[in-house]
Amino acid sequence: MIFWHTGVTAALILVTLGVRRIDYRVVLLGAILPDLIDKPIGRILFEAQFQTGRLFGHTLLFVIVLLLGIQLTLRGETARRWFILPIAALIHLALDGVWSDPVTLFWPLFSTSFPTDPIGTYWLEAVLRALTDLRVMGMELVGLALLAFMWKVFGLQDRSLRRDFIRKGRLSQRRRPEATSVNYKGSRPGGRGLQDSSGETGDTSQAEEGPGSTGQDAG
Ligand SMILES: [Zn+2]
Repeated sequence: MIFWHTGVTAALILVTLGVRRIDYRVVLLGAILPDLIDKPIGRILFEAQFQTGRLFGHTLLFVIVLLLGIQLTLRGETARRWFILPIAALIHLALDGVWSDPVTLFWPLFSTSFPTDPIGTYWLEAVLRALTDLRVMGMELVGLALLAFMWKVFGLQDRSLRRDFIRKGRLSQRRRPEATSVNYKGSRPGGRGLQDSSGETGDTSQAEEGPGSTGQDAG
C-alpha cells in the first residue's frame, strides 16, 4: 500500500513535527522502506523460503539499527536530514499493525524465523488480490487524498516550490510571502510610479492640449 503509507506517515509527521528541518523525501522513503526491503526478498526473490512480505524490515530491531546507524555514522546536516528515516519506518510498522504479530515485531526474541503468510502460487496473485480488495483500495484513496491535500497546501503545483521539494525535500510556506510579494509588486509604489509617470506623460500632453484648447476657447 504505497499511498496509504506515504500519505498517512507524511501527514502524521507534518502534524507533529511541522515542516522545519524535516526532509520530506526521507519521510516518504522511510514510510515505504520496510516494504521496499521485505517484499522483494520475501515475496519475489525468496518466496519459497520465507512466504511472507514481513521480514527484517518490519522488526523493531531494524528501526533501532537504522536509528543507531544514522546517529553513529552521520554528522551535522546529513544526520539532521536522515534522523526522520527510522521514525517514518516505525510509523510504517504501526500502520501495518505489526504489534499484533510480536514474533515479527520483536524478532529474534521469540523465534529466529518469521511467521509465514502463504499467498498461493504466485506473488502477482497477491498484487492482483490487493488491487481488487475494497478495504485496501479505500486506504489507498485516503492516503492519496492526504498527499493531494499536502500537495495543494504547499503549492507543489508551483514549479519553483516543487523543485525546492525535489532537490531539498523542503515543504516551505514560501508560497505566502511570494504571494504577498506578487501583491506588493502590483501595488508597489515604484510600479505605480512608473505607470503614473507614463500616465502623467499622457496627462501632460493632454494637459498641454488642455490649455491650448482653453486658449482656443478663450480666443
Ligand atoms: Zn509493510
